[in-house]
Amino acid sequence: MSAAGTARVDHAVTSGTFSLDGETFDVDNNVWVVGDDTECVVIDAPHSVEDILAVVGDRRVKAIVCTHAHDDHVRVAPALREKVVAPILLHPDDKPLWELTHTQYLWDLDLADGQTLEVGGTTLQVLHTPGHAPGAVCLYAPDLGCVFTGDTLFHGGPGATGRSYSDRPTLEASIRAKLFDLPGDTVVHTGHGEDTTIAAERERLG
Ligand SMILES: [Zn+2]
Repeated sequence: MSAAGTARVDHAVTSGTFSLDGETFDVDNNVWVVGDDTECVVIDAPHSVEDILAVVGDRRVKAIVCTHAHDDHVRVAPALREKVVAPILLHPDDKPLWELTHTQYLWDLDLADGQTLEVGGTTLQVLHTPGHAPGAVCLYAPDLGCVFTGDTLFHGGPGATGRSYSDRPTLEASIRAKLFDLPGDTVVHTGHGEDTTIAAERERLG
């Protein structure tokens, strides 16, 4: 039985590559799993189904939520879907990026700004934060005091905008409009690297 207030965040780091614009880089990605002992949501599906399933354990996966469709965030999403029989959720503005990685599979359900996802007695609020990618989203968990930012906001500042489908002014506008209004002590769980807080990054960006 799942009870309200028992939701938690679990985490793994998994290694692989990121490719875009004809270049390939080695990357370590964070996988975040939010839920209780019974059910969970997986945030991003980078390089290894096994690494993700090790965090999930025997819990039911309600959804595979993609913060954006760069290949290092969605590569094993269809394979994970096969294993756990859960829908893949993606903001439709990332269709062109998704199609660079997956030509024979689609995601299942569109994410939209303001949508909420319920899991393990807690709520994730979808924030559409374009800039790093057109369909990039962050997931705010007010009960847990944290936000999952993918590659929109890192420890140290905004995500990269040097490649196709990225735009720095759009990214900064998204961060200011959607993230910097959150409580300062909100913990930021990023797509790569260590955690930060909203207050620390607000201070840094000025
Ligand atoms: Zn990315």
